[in-house]
Amino acid sequence: MQVRDGHLYIGAHDCTSLAAEFGTPLYVTDEGRIQENFRRVRAALARYSSAFRILYAAKANGNLSVLQTLAREGAGADVFSAGEVQLALLAGMRPEYLLFNGSSKSRADLALAVERGIRVSVDSFDELRQLDAVAGDAGREVEISFRVNPALEVPTHPKIATGLATTKFGIPAGQILDAYREALSCAYVRPVGLHCHIGSQILDVEPFARAAEVMVRVAGAVTDIGVDLSFLDIGGGLGIPYRRDADSAPGFEEYADAVMPVVLEGLAELGISPELWVEPGRSLVADSTVLLTGVNSVKSAHKRFVNVDAGFNLLLRPAMYDSYHEVVVANRADAPPVQEYTIAGPICETGDILATDRMLPAVEEGDVIAMLDAGAYGFSMSSQYNSRPRCPEVMVSGERKALMRRGETVDDLLATMEPLPWHQGAP
Ligand SMILES: *Cc1c(COP(=O)(O)O)cnc(C)c1O
Repeated sequence: MQVRDGHLYIGAHDCTSLAAEFGTPLYVTDEGRIQENFRRVRAALARYSSAFRILYAAKANGNLSVLQTLAREGAGADVFSAGEVQLALLAGMRPEYLLFNGSSKSRADLALAVERGIRVSVDSFDELRQLDAVAGDAGREVEISFRVNPALEVPTHPKIATGLATTKFGIPAGQILDAYREALSCAYVRPVGLHCHIGSQILDVEPFARAAEVMVRVAGAVTDIGVDLSFLDIGGGLGIPYRRDADSAPGFEEYADAVMPVVLEGLAELGISPELWVEPGRSLVADSTVLLTGVNSVKSAHKRFVNVDAGFNLLLRPAMYDSYHEVVVANRADAPPVQEYTIAGPICETGDILATDRMLPAVEEGDVIAMLDAGAYGFSMSSQYNSRPRCPEVMVSGERKALMRRGETVDDLLATMEPLPWHQGAP
């Protein structure tokens, strides 16, 4: 992002012109930034070892074009649903580069994984038994990891701390050996991996190093009972500096420096050499994308509201996690801030606020507000609440630009609704 002639640019493209061409609200993603991010994390890990794999967490941004961008860089994916499996495969990712995660998979999910040769990260004993049965029915072996709950306190928003002892995710460390023992006795399941994911938007590398220590310890214990580990997956979770002035987020290098020595030295001591897998989501895509939203009106009440055309239907994070996104008036990007504004969406909910009390240049109808760093958990968490069709998504790449998703229409809303037979004719 940069400012040229008073306008905010994403890559080579003027956000104000994009808003005029495609309309608002509009998500715009810079492919070059995703590629850069991917190459940076790959380079950071490669300084330590070549035995690693990067599985992009597909839920952060599931657009097929984003998945293709990453597939073309060599990424695999952490997938959490049958839909994510199918999109990742369609994007060109290889089945052996996918890991099917999740704490509540259906038998149909398990059957899909078995059929497509995708490894499964198993989250409960019940799921293990079901998977063995499903694989048996198909007459095919399936490779698995277990997701371990490392019971770590992690400094982030409670709704995205997934490695606490109390979350729904993973098998408690105290039961993990029993889980591997049972897996070893299964006819159609082969335990080959160990998985954890401690949470998201973590702005300190310490927790990752502690999780890596736990993982190495568990790896030693499961090796002792006869498991031949081929991968150790330490999940994702690295945060990004949403508050561009105030947050300091560790880079991929710092992350690698904290994690890789712990893992590599630990595994060397154990005399085993599984691949290290990581599952970054947010850190690959968040800063690639802006949400452009048009100003409908400005209102002076107890505070000054800017009423825009995107709300938590398109960007849920502020309402769901009290998240902060930087706000720029795209068509007045270098005008001096003169006034505090609260950016309010069009949804019929008091909580539909995208940003609170921000110093901005004078704003008026027709201006374009850019919500920065909207590439992760932005469009992917969108909804049609208030019967609002979802907005289009544009990808830019160098000088090129193209829709990667058209905007929905009211016909799209209606497309899946069925008229009831007893509503035909007059009441
Ligand atoms: C969401 C998720 C990730 C990615 O988390 P980020 O914070 O976006 O990096 C990785 N692994 C699993 C299992 C997840 O659920």
